[in-house]
Amino acid sequence: MPMDTDVRHAVVIGAGMAGLAAARVLADRFEVVTVIERDTLPSASTPRAGVPQAHHVHGLLALGAEVFEGYFPGLRAELEQAGAPVWDWGEGLCAVLPNGTPPPTTMGMPIQTFSRPLLEHVLRQRVTALKPVTLRDGLTVTGLRTAAPGKVTGVRVKGKDGGDAEEIAADLVVDASGRSSHLPQWLAALGLSSPRTTTVDAQVGYASRTYSYPDGQAPPSWRGLLQPLRAPDFHKGCYAIQIENNALHVTLHGANGTQLPHNDDDFLAFAKTLRGPIADTIGSLTPTSAVRRYARTVNRKIAYHRLARWPDGLIALGDSVCTFNPAYGQGMTVAALEARLLEQMLGNRRAGTPLDGQAFQKRLARVTASSWLMATTPDRAWEKSPPAWPVKAGNWFMNRLIDTVPQDPRLYTAFSGMFHMTAGPLTLADPRLLSRVLIGPRPGGSPRMATA
Ligand SMILES: Cc1cc2nc3c(=O)[nH]c(=O)nc-3n(C[C@H](O)[C@H](O)[C@H](O)COP(=O)(O)OP(=O)(O)OC[C@H]3O[C@@H](n4cnc5c(N)ncnc54)[C@H](O)[C@@H]3O)c2cc1C
Repeated sequence: MPMDTDVRHAVVIGAGMAGLAAARVLADRFEVVTVIERDTLPSASTPRAGVPQAHHVHGLLALGAEVFEGYFPGLRAELEQAGAPVWDWGEGLCAVLPNGTPPPTTMGMPIQTFSRPLLEHVLRQRVTALKPVTLRDGLTVTGLRTAAPGKVTGVRVKGKDGGDAEEIAADLVVDASGRSSHLPQWLAALGLSSPRTTTVDAQVGYASRTYSYPDGQAPPSWRGLLQPLRAPDFHKGCYAIQIENNALHVTLHGANGTQLPHNDDDFLAFAKTLRGPIADTIGSLTPTSAVRRYARTVNRKIAYHRLARWPDGLIALGDSVCTFNPAYGQGMTVAALEARLLEQMLGNRRAGTPLDGQAFQKRLARVTASSWLMATTPDRAWEKSPPAWPVKAGNWFMNRLIDTVPQDPRLYTAFSGMFHMTAGPLTLADPRLLSRVLIGPRPGGSPRMATA
């Protein structure tokens, strides 16, 4: 691919999922790409302070896996080599849904499960092996460098020890610093107005740990287990996936401020209040980590795309712009889709013109729109104020769909495609599927289970 001559240096703030994906596509277009990361990065696949969510189950949706595989050919095989199992979603998932568990169904939808640190480690190695990319860790970006109002020309950084501040010049700055991004304050320092922030909070909490199988004990027959939350009755649930090192990673979660477990005993006690096999499974396993908790799960969208003025030389993506309640597993896939948008917009520019940051933010808002709806529609049902009728109607439809899924393999497959973003919502416009949803579950077709 020809290198631009006018733009030479891109700086990416943050070496998380969005930062690594962005660096990958920038490396095709910029002579130098510097990724600046606050943490001192581990040389192995271990959790780190800047990504506290890495202690919790991170499922990569099928679409996200496809996009990452496109950017990093052989990624799936490399992760498999590192012990991350690949399995068919319909065959390997035990979905404990409010109206029952669908029987195993071959879907032809390969899924791979691993820990977040492993995925990040492998991607980091791939990205830093790219010739234009330099990773500078242990450096915190403290603000934006500007030459004239309305133009960002780099970043200001300082080292861990609070040492000398430094300025790094760049033709393009990409904010990928995640949920704790300071971009609104940095824009205010440039005299720009504050963007509107929208939040939807189901007050979901997570508690997670890993387990190993005692010698001679086989792993469970399922590869992944999920028990989703649903307002108003199903306020406790879980995720569990088989990951590398022959480990089982388990996340228990609760909505509406549900008290989450702190320690060994609480963890098992919470699991015992759930339907499905999770308590029986972990009861016979050996914990290999402490219980870690996390509660910053609010859906939050910052409307940078609506700002009347946006500086040249700057874009923002990933959780820094739009974060989702992680219970829907969308964040890493959306980060991959945003990198794809960046690639398209860099590729579509007229030769010699810089990237239009404002246009990027507008298109990014469209990329996140359906994931935002997918997460916030059910989450609004947990909020105190009664939801508006479109939200109520959306939730009625989704709940009917999910209640019918255990009895209908075709519907289960269609729903799984939508969940994994490999199929759009129009999948359900097929009259044969739509009518199945509207008719709903057959009474007695599968046992209605007790609420958790
Ligand atoms: C509990 C939990 C569970 C989740 N589960 C899933 C899941 O199952 N599937 C899924 O797809 N997503 C999941 N997510 C979402 C996923 O973690 C994020 O969407 C994804 O990591 C977004 O990537 P990001 O790069 O924007 O942010 P992050 O990955 O958080 O990375 C931000 C990076 O920026 C660095 N940084 C911050 N500030 C600065 C600074 N000033 N200077 C330099 N560096 C800085 C941080 O140290 C960090 O490395 C989950 C999130 C949570 C909270």
